[in-house]
Amino acid sequence: MLSVEEARTRILSHARLTEAEPVPLRDAFGRVPAESSVLAAIDVPPFANSSMDGFALRAADAPGELPLMGEVAAGAAAPPLRPRTAVRIMTGAPLPPGADAVAPLEDAEMVGEDRVRLPMTEAGANVRARGHDTQHGEQVELAAEPLSAATIAVLASLGIGQIEVRRRPLVAILSTGDELVTPGESLGEGQIHDANTVSLAAAVLEAGGEPIVLLRAPDEPVAIDAALREGSASADLLVASGGVSVGRHDHVRAGIERLGELAFWRIAVQPGKPLAFGSIADRAVIGLPGNPVSALVTFELFVRVLLRGMMGLAGDGRVHLPARLDTTVRKDRERRAYLRVVVRPDPDGWLASPAGGQGSAQLRALAAANALLVVPEGEPAGEAGARYDAVLLRGVS
Ligand code: AMP
Ligand code: MG
Repeated sequence: MLSVEEARTRILSHARLTEAEPVPLRDAFGRVPAESSVLAAIDVPPFANSSMDGFALRAADAPGELPLMGEVAAGAAAPPLRPRTAVRIMTGAPLPPGADAVAPLEDAEMVGEDRVRLPMTEAGANVRARGHDTQHGEQVELAAEPLSAATIAVLASLGIGQIEVRRRPLVAILSTGDELVTPGESLGEGQIHDANTVSLAAAVLEAGGEPIVLLRAPDEPVAIDAALREGSASADLLVASGGVSVGRHDHVRAGIERLGELAFWRIAVQPGKPLAFGSIADRAVIGLPGNPVSALVTFELFVRVLLRGMMGLAGDGRVHLPARLDTTVRKDRERRAYLRVVVRPDPDGWLASPAGGQGSAQLRALAAANALLVVPEGEPAGEAGARYDAVLLRGVS
């Protein structure tokens, strides 16, 4: 059995970077930039402006009472300020040439209609200098991570309308099993609803990929081969579930072998030991176990990192933190366990409690969990009181 790291390394060796493509900023959220920095072609802000509603003045003229010489609003051009006068100014309006400070409205006192009494005001007060966020000619670094709202705002402020990003990897999803029925349809004898097609499609989206074809095949070699061919021809990656174990009706592994190349291995992981990885016509194919918890956990461990690798992202993109398990949970000694837990803050660090039954078909515990707690191979149980690495799947509350 391969360790999780060995399996990951072998899978990642197949990660081929997707091409760069331009997207308008309005579609850029969550996309991975294909460049590591952009050149600032302008100063941001492009002119000195007021950070407050108030009165523009020369600091040297205050404190004192000054004649008010009109106003300057955001978006308008500001005429020069005559000495020993003030001008009403709005937030974001350009500072009139000659002014060097803004006295806030709250601190000023009108004297009649056209004079204002202003307090002591320091030069530079409430003024945002030209280029105070970014200077023309600067290289603005873009982190190797999905674009955030804030980074999109930076690009927009620089006047950049579109950005080169990695194409989202296209993923075909294939669920196999005679027992599967589409959710929404009623069940016949021995049938269950297909949970994996939709859960894996959602996990693909979360990882930054694009699920494009959703296929289902019964446990028949001919049908499975046809679906494997169709899925791998239409996507960068084919993710199948079910049919990779040693049962008489498990045909996915043999199908990959018939149509392409298989690097099949068993991974020392719980849940999820059987997992088939290979390629068909040079496209990566990964066969996950059918149990719905195993399918999602192995997706997290192996497919998510592969999709990220295809976009030039390293690692799993998750927050890891040490958490103390509050209950002993037995596991297979040979395999590394990923327990479904709820992590929460505790007076001496982070505490992890099992989120429910740890069976590989107990989806409710996975849905309730906010983390996977990693109990190493070689240990027969996760011990109450011991600390383990927790992989956060979402926020902690
Ligand atoms: P398999 O890996 O095909 O042996 O399937 C293992 C278990 O997972 C069996 O109990 C299957 O019924 C179940 N299973 C397989 N595929 C799915 C699916 N798409 N949705 C829900 N359960 C599944
Ligand atoms: Mg099956």
